[in-house]
Amino acid sequence: MNNEDVIEKLIEQFRTLPGVGYKTAQRYAFSIIEGKEERAKRFSQTILEAKEKIGFCQVCGNFTDREICPICRNRNRKIICVVKEPKDVLAMEKVKSYQGVYHVLFGTISPLEHRGPNDIKIKELLARVQEDNVEEVIMATNPDVEGDATAMYIAKILSPLGVKVTRLAQGVSMGSDLEYADEVTLSRALEGRRELN
Ligand SMILES: [Zn+2]
Repeated sequence: MNNEDVIEKLIEQFRTLPGVGYKTAQRYAFSIIEGKEERAKRFSQTILEAKEKIGFCQVCGNFTDREICPICRNRNRKIICVVKEPKDVLAMEKVKSYQGVYHVLFGTISPLEHRGPNDIKIKELLARVQEDNVEEVIMATNPDVEGDATAMYIAKILSPLGVKVTRLAQGVSMGSDLEYADEVTLSRALEGRRELN
């Protein structure tokens, strides 16, 4: 393999990342090649370390390098914000005023994709609501058909437990994905949340 192939190989690796096109991948690759060896080592070791050590929190499903994540250890467990994926926790954390915990469903109910309530972490949510005497469950699944259906389903099954279930308000500027909503939009969506049951 000649030098050019190695550079191409590095560019191809960066291109596997979401949102990175060829030009950007090329810039990243040259930045690594032109930088100090120490930096390249630290970079590659950190990638391996993250892959090795990061797993899912046993309580909420968020990414963490511990058994139980810092949010579950330190925050108000009486309020649970329910999201679709671990990356949505990061999005919601932009709202500094939120002091509750999270629950990651790892998907939403989708008849089209043959995904029912038993295929996502709803049982686990039910158990948490009962064990921790939860007062409010905030549904923060994306404002699309699947996200809405999942929110309605969870509101229905939680209603016999007497827990308040709310849904984030959907501002006009709210995109279809939590990930892309900014702090102000999310804060407003949280403040304007409405009861589902
Ligand atoms: Zn957790």
